[in-house]
Amino acid sequence: MQITLDADKCCAAGQCVLVAPEVFDQREEDGVVELLDAAPPAEQHDAVREAAALCPAAVIEVRE
Ligand code: SF4
Repeated sequence: MQITLDADKCCAAGQCVLVAPEVFDQREEDGVVELLDAAPPAEQHDAVREAAALCPAAVIEVRE
């Protein structure tokens, strides 16, 4: 799995961090998403897919 972000579209809703806190974080200053692990281990994959589905701004792109 490979993750890419289009952080310019991020509205800092934080859904991704709630669902997959080991993969996503938010910048202190404005809450914009940060990617902690662009190629997470298998046990994170379901959470990453859920985060991508929940993101209200379609920021998270997942390639399997
Ligand atoms: S869920 Fe989407 S819009 Fe919200 S912080 Fe994460 S990437 Fe940004």
